[in-house]
Amino acid sequence: MTERLYYHDSFLYDFDARVVDSLDRNGRPAIVLDRTAFYPTSGGQVHDLGMLLADGKQIAITEVADEEDGRILHFASEQIPAGTQIHGSVDAVRRRDHVQQHSGQHLISAAFIRLFNMPTVSFHMGEESCTIDLEAAGLSSAQTQKAEFLANEVIAEDRPVSIRFVPLEEARQLGLRKLPPQADRRSASDQYHGL
Ligand SMILES: [Zn+2]
Repeated sequence: MTERLYYHDSFLYDFDARVVDSLDRNGRPAIVLDRTAFYPTSGGQVHDLGMLLADGKQIAITEVADEEDGRILHFASEQIPAGTQIHGSVDAVRRRDHVQQHSGQHLISAAFIRLFNMPTVSFHMGEESCTIDLEAAGLSSAQTQKAEFLANEVIAEDRPVSIRFVPLEEARQLGLRKLPPQADRRSASDQYHGL
């Protein structure tokens, strides 16, 4: 299981780690590290890009995927042997964009719940645009504007965003929109809609 450094610090872009496995996935080198700051595609957020520095050589990370067994695969331009110490660098501009879109989605989804009781059923983040699917019979532009206004009001208040790990029982009491599928692996705090 890969230690997920991004769970504790969303602004960590540089880290040191060790290669624990070098896999081949359909001809693509896939590197497993003991710890990583690279965010894999999950929860509607697309993966990070960046590079690994190994033995003085820069190796590009082209995709990051979350495995069922808790390991994170770093698809790379070339293989790095197991045991190698590496320095990882996450593309900070891309990550920052994703973080803002992700937090923004939670705010606007919460606004649609609070104002019109319209739950979000899915969220997709892309290079050019981001979409939120609402469960609703219809949606007027006046409603959209109201939700946007409320979300922007909360942003203007500059509320702190914090990371917390809580036991499943406590998570059930927090009024989360969604509980994690596997309580031992996922942070539930991310799903708290506390407008
Ligand atoms: Zn989230």
